[in-house]
Amino acid sequence: MSIHHNINQIKDEIPAHVTLVAISKTHPPAIIMEAYNAGQSIFGENKVQELVSKYEVMPKDIEWHLVGHLQTNKVKYIATFVNLIHSVDSLKLLKEIDKQAAKNNRVINCLFQMHIAEEETKFGLAHDELVDILKSQEFRLLKNIQIVGLMGMATFTDDMEQVRKEFRGLSIFFNQVKKDFFNNSSDFITLSMGMSSDYRVAIEEGSTMIRVGSNIFGDRFYGTN
Ligand SMILES: *Cc1c(COP(=O)(O)O)cnc(C)c1O
Repeated sequence: MSIHHNINQIKDEIPAHVTLVAISKTHPPAIIMEAYNAGQSIFGENKVQELVSKYEVMPKDIEWHLVGHLQTNKVKYIATFVNLIHSVDSLKLLKEIDKQAAKNNRVINCLFQMHIAEEETKFGLAHDELVDILKSQEFRLLKNIQIVGLMGMATFTDDMEQVRKEFRGLSIFFNQVKKDFFNNSSDFITLSMGMSSDYRVAIEEGSTMIRVGSNIFGDRFYGTN
């Protein structure tokens, strides 16, 4: 099946309030162009260097998201152009994003990544860690970041009831945070959850943004990177 076909199939299937982010990591620009030519304009990468090099050669009306773990010392490379960072997992990182955004006269949209999986290895904040950040004076002083929602990755498992439980928990927490800390603001509207294997469940549980890679581009081949 073609990339064009895959994109249209997913877009036909998902509700209008759900945004599709095409995760293009490991795929070269020529392949990503097939998705772009099929009408896809939002792409996500998980590595800073790969994101920058693709941004440089791809059409400028693409919206680029960073979905992978971000190191503080690399924020400066993406601060000029990134549209949404899905993976904010500390106040220190957020402060650096704010600083680099200010340097570029920008406001950068961010999601806090929450730890919802059973695996210890996945990144993300616990509920109380996020609440501590949101209550802090330091957080309130940041002017060049906009928190637009939360992101989470479920446990890597075939047990869809486990995955559903984790997404449901994140969705409930999202609504609580929206009410308690964002005054139900219409700026806080993005719940990024769901990948190729679990986006249908994620949407049923309230996702507004899905990050789909292999169902669009096929399998990834990891070479030397
Ligand atoms: C790779 C990746 C995805 C997409 O995964 P697929 O299973 O290929 O759809 C989504 N989110 C993040 C954070 C990723 O790193």
